Amino acid sequence: MKISVPKETHPGETRAPLTPDSTAKLVKLGAQVEVEAGVGLAAGFPDDAYAKAGATIAIDRRALIGSGDIVLRLRKPPVEEIALLKSGSIHVSLLDPFNEKELVQKFAEHGVSAISMEFIPRTTRAQKMDVLSSQANLGGYEAVILAARYSNKIFPMMTTAAGTILPSKVFIIGVGVAGLQAIATAKRLGAKVTAYDTRPVVEEQVKSLAAQFLKIDLGETGQTKDGYAKALTEEQIQKQRQAMNKTCGDSDVVITTAQVFGRKAPVLVTAEMLNAMKPGSVVIDMAVETGGNVEGVVYDQVTDRNGVKIVGIANLPGRAPLHASQVYSANLLALVEEFWDKQNKTFVLKLDDEIIKGCLVTHGGKIVNEKLIAKPN
Ligand code: NAD
Repeated sequence: MKISVPKETHPGETRAPLTPDSTAKLVKLGAQVEVEAGVGLAAGFPDDAYAKAGATIAIDRRALIGSGDIVLRLRKPPVEEIALLKSGSIHVSLLDPFNEKELVQKFAEHGVSAISMEFIPRTTRAQKMDVLSSQANLGGYEAVILAARYSNKIFPMMTTAAGTILPSKVFIIGVGVAGLQAIATAKRLGAKVTAYDTRPVVEEQVKSLAAQFLKIDLGETGQTKDGYAKALTEEQIQKQRQAMNKTCGDSDVVITTAQVFGRKAPVLVTAEMLNAMKPGSVVIDMAVETGGNVEGVVYDQVTDRNGVKIVGIANLPGRAPLHASQVYSANLLALVEEFWDKQNKTFVLKLDDEIIKGCLVTHGGKIVNEKLIAKPN
């Protein structure tokens, strides 16, 4: 079975879908692995390392994509590359399937079985394949490093002969995987951290990291069976904004990570809250790729608003490309290993398996995922 790994083409993407280490493990399983020349260069993995791991290096991208029984990628493919895929092949990547309807349709038309890594179920068995978590974790770390870099203050308290420096106050909105890592990183740097999330279960987790939890009574909020937040009502949003106003004004750094799976991110930090912040403070919007949590944030830019820096830098995990590639690649490897038939040296798409049912988007010429059929939004 041939596994093809083309190089990422998204501008500025530094991460690689597969590392040499995972390549060696796939080769050991009996797969024939071919990677495009330069696939791991930006992440720190030269072609030589893939060759040593047992892969062949392809110069012809189109032939590489067209010959794979499985094609592994990180980001969704450019739509024009779908026609290059072999009918009956399996394509594995992030797909943004709620928003990429045309892309999903094209996969179906070309008879490709497309797996969307966003749809890997959040079960214990599938945890090792969860790319959203592996990337969000590194993103949370990078958000704090960026905040420290853009702030006009240091994070820790220091008592020196020249006087006492008070710790920076960091407010983290949204405490999922990224938010928890951001809390832990900011605490390690010595900041005073407050955090907030609509899911009540988060309070305990925040406290266990020795941070403060901002309590806002919004009535019923809850979460989905996969642990994702539900969207708030207009009334709840207004209540939340009033309560967050003061904390934003008191903070040196605000980091927002709030997302609602499959929807545009909610706007949480409004112009009014930005007005309340001191010049020199920093807001990092980790949700910028799904629309942004901060009013006026500009995608992939740092802007200045009356002295408050609004950081909309995208692809935060890509700022640590070696580790981000390492964990993404380990997630893909775990998926392949889980469904690998060792005897026949082939990947078996078990259609009745809970993991495959969760993440398979197209198969046999049709859109097959119930999340897309039942709830196209
Ligand atoms: P996410 O990226 O979808 O959202 C980030 C955070 O933003 C979430 O905590 C969410 O509750 C919060 N949020 C959404 N709307 C908000 C609002 N209006 N105001 C404030 N906060 C808001 O979430 P995630 O990082 O993917 O994690 C969601 C949960 O799933 C976490 O509890 C995580 O630990 C859990 N999880 C479980 C598994 C597993 O069981 N295998 C794997 C990964 C994550």
